[in-house]
Amino acid sequence: MRIPIHPTQYPYHFWRRAVVHPLCLVLFFCAPALGLLRVDVVSQQVVYVGQAYPFSWWSLAPIPIGFYALVLAIAAVTWQKGRVFCGWVCPHNSLTEATRAFRGALGIEPMPHNVQRVLNRAPAITVPVKIAVVLVGLGLCWGLAVLLLHYVVDWPVILGDFKGQPAHPAALLGQGLLTFIGLFALCMGHLFCKTTCPYGMAQSAMAFVQGKHPPMTIAYQGDADQQACGTCTGCLQICPVTIDPRAVDKVGEFKGCWNCGECIDACHTVKAPVGKQGILAFTQ
Ligand code: SF4
Ligand code: SF4
Repeated sequence: MRIPIHPTQYPYHFWRRAVVHPLCLVLFFCAPALGLLRVDVVSQQVVYVGQAYPFSWWSLAPIPIGFYALVLAIAAVTWQKGRVFCGWVCPHNSLTEATRAFRGALGIEPMPHNVQRVLNRAPAITVPVKIAVVLVGLGLCWGLAVLLLHYVVDWPVILGDFKGQPAHPAALLGQGLLTFIGLFALCMGHLFCKTTCPYGMAQSAMAFVQGKHPPMTIAYQGDADQQACGTCTGCLQICPVTIDPRAVDKVGEFKGCWNCGECIDACHTVKAPVGKQGILAFTQ
């Protein structure tokens, strides 16, 4: 099933993909380029919102304090709302959802429906398209690696090797290492979220501790149950982590539901033509 982006009929889909994901990606990868935050280890300066300060206990202290405050804030949200951070904010997840064609071209996942439709119509372009997609994926990994490196070194140091100057070893090492990590994460896709991500593990452990008072998740609305689904499998097809949204309240957090709401939109989509509302909703 292909769910088109429409802000009123598919609110979760629209807000996630068209607003929150792009905003979070820009903030995460471009904070140094926008002058919001940099810790330049070469010039030994820290930059907050366009203002540079020399390294000192006082200028650096906000970084660990801010980090732990953020961890506590995410933990508090997770306690109430489950893995909502994964579904809405996490840059790895946003990139994973935007790069399905890359894994499709490598044969790791099925191709996205829209790309596959084009390839079915013109099989002759399959190989060139796949090669182009892989090259774009590699370029994306390198580009993001450079943006991340900018958190700790400035552009002249990062790009020195492209201007006929001797390359700074740290910049070369950083680009290579970050590109490799990015490529690894891109290839793993959502498997990383389900099996490797430390935050995901911590969240699952938290859900276990919460026991009978689990965080928000997906469930049937009111008296609805699986009988109301008939032969439909719309929500199963759309779930980005390939779990069954209809049973997530029973086994939810351990299967990785991250409260993205895509299944709610999908259910509205299949029910709308017969004049009914969707039967899935968030539990709180
Ligand atoms: S079950 Fe629904 S809310 Fe949970 S991850 Fe899948 S689509 Fe998103
Ligand atoms: S989309 Fe709605 S009707 Fe279809 S299987 Fe899922 S819950 Fe049932």
